[in-house]
Amino acid sequence: MPPADVIDDAASDSDVSELNSNDIGASSDAVTQLGYAEDPETPLTADSFPSKSGGLPIWLNPENPLDQANCQVCEKPMNLLVQLYTPEDYPEEAYHRTVYVFCCKDGACHKKNWRKCFKVVRSQLARNNPYYSPSSESDSEDEEAESWQPKKFDPSHLCVVCGLAGPKTCGKCHQEFYCSREHQLVDWNLAGHKQFCCQTVSAAQAIEIKDKRSKLLFTEKEIVSEPEGLGADGEEEQAQLEFSKEQNGPTAAAASTALVPAGDEIYENTEVDVDQAFLKFQLKVQLYPEQVLRYTRTEYGSEDVEPLWVSDKGKPDAADIPACHACGAERTFEFQILSTLLNYLGVSHVATDSLDWGSLFVYTCKDNCPTQSKYLEEVLWKQDFSDEGVQLPTRRPDAVRADQ
Ligand SMILES: [Zn+2]
Ligand SMILES: [Zn+2]
Ligand SMILES: [Zn+2]
Ligand SMILES: [Zn+2]
Repeated sequence: MPPADVIDDAASDSDVSELNSNDIGASSDAVTQLGYAEDPETPLTADSFPSKSGGLPIWLNPENPLDQANCQVCEKPMNLLVQLYTPEDYPEEAYHRTVYVFCCKDGACHKKNWRKCFKVVRSQLARNNPYYSPSSESDSEDEEAESWQPKKFDPSHLCVVCGLAGPKTCGKCHQEFYCSREHQLVDWNLAGHKQFCCQTVSAAQAIEIKDKRSKLLFTEKEIVSEPEGLGADGEEEQAQLEFSKEQNGPTAAAASTALVPAGDEIYENTEVDVDQAFLKFQLKVQLYPEQVLRYTRTEYGSEDVEPLWVSDKGKPDAADIPACHACGAERTFEFQILSTLLNYLGVSHVATDSLDWGSLFVYTCKDNCPTQSKYLEEVLWKQDFSDEGVQLPTRRPDAVRADQ
């Protein structure tokens, strides 16, 4: 039975989640699912199996939060960039599956060594697990499903700043939990715990505190998905690609695309030596310019899917994508995060040390090997737009916080 069934049931209050879970996890061919960032209609919770960017991580395994995701340059805790719910048919333990991407917020760290500024982990749960009902819509009449009760357990303490495991407490009030001394200090000074420690807070103050803390994170957006269109636009796009290939050679290809429309603007491309990968990227992405994520999971047993590179330069070598540390299986491309997501994170684009990337490519264990209530680390590769390429215009939605 496809895992989408149970998800439909769990998320039946939201069309968006239905689309999301069906399409992201269970595509039967290599159609790319495009992810879009939207304001959540209702607060995102674990039992709706959310896909999202920013905010606090929502742990698939509620009893077992990740205990550390530190930047290896500044050594400070990183922030959740994206979490994607990506259930798989095989093996059974990947019935529920979430991939988490963490990222240091400090662009200066990325400039020093971007490889040390990301962490990707995978978490999985079988259909029969202590936390979520195994029932699906089709068999909800089932007696077994009716009588199913989630396990009762003491919720783990989570860091109030970043949402990772919080084994430390405020030394004064012992009411607030933290992952690290770093976040204790951040909460004390920036989120105002200094003012509220050992105080009874009003509802209004609680909102104020929550708001201050949320500003320390990337802005939370739900990621909803739709299959990339294969209609008239898709055919047209294919024809364009074929045409530039047939011209056989960079000069002719450049001539055929002297005017490259991107978004609402037309760029005159006078470079003869056009970056072919960038050209292809631009042709694909301009059809759906709001996309922030592309999900193209390699089907089990089928040929590897090629990501949509943003440049001919800076592709990973085989050694850059090592085999799974847990089981030794190959890691294959699963999804890429586009530069358009930067517009939604609530971080500045103008600062010298701002975050930047052309795309972030996530590679995961092809076999979805069992995680056994741990978090298995996966691999991320970053590619920048080449200097010769023309950058796509970035839209700045109203949602971007001007104060950050
Ligand atoms: Zn850092
Ligand atoms: Zn923390
Ligand atoms: Zn305190
Ligand atoms: Zn593995």
